[in-house]
Amino acid sequence: MRPPVRRALADAAARTPDAGPATGVRWDLSHLFAGPDDPAIESALDASLAAARAFAQRQRGEIARIDAGALCDAVDELERIQEPAARAGAYAHLLFAADTATARHGALLQRVQERSTEIRNELLFFELEWVAVDRDRAGALLGDPALARRRHLLASMRRYRPHVLSEPEEKILGETANTGRNAFSRLFDQIMAELMFRVVRDGEPVEMGEEEVLSLLYAEDREVRREAARALTEGLRRSSRTLAFIFNTLVQDKAIDDRLRSYAAPIDARNLANEIEPASVASLLDACTARYPLVARYYRLKAKLLGLDSLADYDRYAPVGGGARTRTFAEAQRIVLDAYGDFSPRMADIARRFFEERWIDAELRPGKRGGAFCSSTVPAVHPYVLLNYTGNLRDVMTVAHELGHGVHQLLAAPRGLFEQDTPLTTAETASVFGEMLVFRRLMREETDPRVRLALLCGKLEDAFATVFRQVAMTRFEQALHAARRAEGELPIERVNELWVAANRPMFGDSVALSDDYAWWWLYIPHFVHSPFYCYAYAYGELLVLALLHRYDEEGDAFVPRYLELLAAGGSDSPAALLARIGIDTADPGFWDGGLALLEGLVAQAESLAGGGA
Ligand SMILES: [Zn+2]
Repeated sequence: MRPPVRRALADAAARTPDAGPATGVRWDLSHLFAGPDDPAIESALDASLAAARAFAQRQRGEIARIDAGALCDAVDELERIQEPAARAGAYAHLLFAADTATARHGALLQRVQERSTEIRNELLFFELEWVAVDRDRAGALLGDPALARRRHLLASMRRYRPHVLSEPEEKILGETANTGRNAFSRLFDQIMAELMFRVVRDGEPVEMGEEEVLSLLYAEDREVRREAARALTEGLRRSSRTLAFIFNTLVQDKAIDDRLRSYAAPIDARNLANEIEPASVASLLDACTARYPLVARYYRLKAKLLGLDSLADYDRYAPVGGGARTRTFAEAQRIVLDAYGDFSPRMADIARRFFEERWIDAELRPGKRGGAFCSSTVPAVHPYVLLNYTGNLRDVMTVAHELGHGVHQLLAAPRGLFEQDTPLTTAETASVFGEMLVFRRLMREETDPRVRLALLCGKLEDAFATVFRQVAMTRFEQALHAARRAEGELPIERVNELWVAANRPMFGDSVALSDDYAWWWLYIPHFVHSPFYCYAYAYGELLVLALLHRYDEEGDAFVPRYLELLAAGGSDSPAALLARIGIDTADPGFWDGGLALLEGLVAQAESLAGGGA
């Protein structure tokens, strides 16, 4: 997934009303199922359910007594049981993302979610019984070499010990989530996919979707950006009562869940899922906040480059320097594969498969989900990439980003369904690393100082969006959840106020935040789908800067170790996996190392601007 608001630039002139420069680039989901009516979908769900019931009949009440070898085998069996249902789930999600407007896609998604819950409910006892095993016995089992293969998985399950409820309670929560939290989440997607924004172009009102209107914020013409900002605000305001109700409901749903499960702070459940210590998150947030002045320093430079006295909020993504031109999807493919190939031919070979075997959906279509993501499916198949390609440099970076995920997921697939995905904190490693490889290659090839400056500014703005903006968003979420808990249902104006209060310190006096800006939290999907997701982007970006530093020092010797890190997937905690390549994220100075590299890039931009512009 890309961080919120790193969207397509789109030169006003380059805007096309058709499917964009990636017309016809659609994925082939038949690798999963033949179509939404394929009877194999239902059979897959039936197979998982029957196997789950048989497993429950045999194992229920036994988990506290079985030995290490049997426990290990039980986990293997659980993985096999869930695979058919996971395949159906992945298919339903992808089908819906590619076309949210077709009713039977939504119906299939709902059906698969409900049936998956049924399967999960059958298997719930395993985790609850294992978590309930007393500390001494669990310690002895985990120390037994017979379950070494599953040690991390079993040990990390037990970290939920203080937060799990009884089996009937867990079942009720799981089932009602489909008509509660999950339903509100989908409602948000549907509203945003259908929301149209009325942008006045050359005196004529033009209706456009979210993706397009956001892309105009990257236009060269200031009037186009100003108009896009106005239209964005107006469209959001029109739906704000419904959207704000969804937000309020989900924030309260989380408060209830946190209370029932004894999580003290709203961020705690996410930290636990991320396998990261709260202190480590706090030090990440503090290190970034302390560097906020770097953001203001950059935007002052940007105002100078744009010839403006001061920047308005809609100027933040204005293109700087030269070189803004549209690139075909084939060009994007070449650029990304070349950059990947410089680093490792093996990595390029993996990435090439996404293009050649139709694992990517890149064209613009009404009803298609906005943004971009790469989704792992089941180890026996392969991941799929969704993006909305409009042809600017930023989109090329998006291709690099999502293929980074793709390479990571494909390398980790042999770890199996349970270990192929990493926690969020390291989930963005390969994606951001891939973007950096493309950035560096473009910088190396380019000789025109104006284009180099444009590239550098683009990279900096992306890095800022990935680090500082995500930290500000995390601060916003902390304030939002705290306010909802203390004040009850929040009026929109109150949330607007919290949003501006969280963002203003980052910009200092370098960007004037308008009343429009106050409404722009309303479209950010992360707050709806995965609370406190955002800091993982900052973690990922700073980690990647550290990895690049390592690569620069070690050269090619670094490559196989990096690929091994990716192939390890989620088979151990991020800290343990990183320790294997000599990175210590617990070191308080660690984050500052990456931030210092960003400061170096700002200084480089300042000198390019002074010398070459
Ligand atoms: Zn991503």
